[in-house]
Amino acid sequence: MLNLHDQHESPLAPIPENELSDEQVLVELHKIKEELKDKVVVLGHHYQQDDVIQFADHTGDSLQLARDASKLDKPYIMFCGVHFMAETADILTKDDQQVILPDLRAGCSMADMANRDDIDQAWEYMLSSTSEKIIPITYINCAATLKSFVGDNGGSICTSSNAKEIISWAFKEGEKLLFFPDQHLGRNTCFDMGISLDEMVVYNPNMYRGGLTPEQINKAKVILWYGYCSVHQGFTASQVEDLKKNRPDVKVIVHPECNFETVQAAHDSGSTSYISNKIDASPAGSKWAVGTEINLVNRLAQKYPDKEIFSLSPYQCLCTTMYRVRPRWLLASFKAIKENKPINIIKVDKKTAQSSKVALERMLSIK
Ligand code: SF4
Repeated sequence: MLNLHDQHESPLAPIPENELSDEQVLVELHKIKEELKDKVVVLGHHYQQDDVIQFADHTGDSLQLARDASKLDKPYIMFCGVHFMAETADILTKDDQQVILPDLRAGCSMADMANRDDIDQAWEYMLSSTSEKIIPITYINCAATLKSFVGDNGGSICTSSNAKEIISWAFKEGEKLLFFPDQHLGRNTCFDMGISLDEMVVYNPNMYRGGLTPEQINKAKVILWYGYCSVHQGFTASQVEDLKKNRPDVKVIVHPECNFETVQAAHDSGSTSYISNKIDASPAGSKWAVGTEINLVNRLAQKYPDKEIFSLSPYQCLCTTMYRVRPRWLLASFKAIKENKPINIIKVDKKTAQSSKVALERMLSIK
């Protein structure tokens, strides 16, 4: 299976700005960011570490950052997130703007679980198995080549914030849904919309014909791709049940990338924006166990000292690929811009970008 991010893997990659201490790197970063403020805008995903997020001009989840990127006018967009997010920003920005990913190794393990060859093969098999119209929906966490597939085949992209609206739209356009790469977001959202589990099947690209017969495909309403987020898989229904038993005063809120049983056991679930807003609106003294990436959980705990906020899991649910964007890499990228030799530019080829843009704009017009 082709892994886009592995193309950039290099265990021997030199650590930039190695002669500076961590503190010196932050001092230099503040200076250079101010110096280049007319040229560079920094976007930071909620899951970034605090040392990086402090430099972000815009913070948010994938949907918010995609919307922000489409409205920016500075020549350089420094994207502190992962590879697929920087690609999305490149697709939505103007041709003369450049998107920089401070560390090219910052990928997403879930995005890597679906690639274009596998999707093309699966699509062909699905079309030959049913006469019903299938609408492909991809979670925004995927490579641009998959966004372009969706654009070319009458589908749309979705995020965890708007999945319900996009799936409702899809069922007005066709009778069946192919949802990739995250099976959990697809299953949790469809179930929430009244689709039963026995109307859903899972296509596993590692098995012959996805492990499904033509009859199973024909009968299903929703075909889920066998993909998942290794970070959110760290949260379990038994953690929720234990907490409910031992701390009945605590509300459990989880991300829909968690598995079905965990989401069902929790009191509430939603995107990172939904989680943040829900905690923000809760009264002082509220107690929350949160099932999402640890950097966001810790940031919420710091922001609301009058509430008790902690991770649902006793283990560190850290997005290690996101964590690859470090202040040193950020500083090296800023310095390269200053020297007019920008590095780590993310460029999506024109044809892929055009088709992806169709799918992205479809999403933004639906919600
Ligand atoms: S938290 Fe999961 S889905 Fe999000 S970027 Fe990290 S690996 Fe990908």
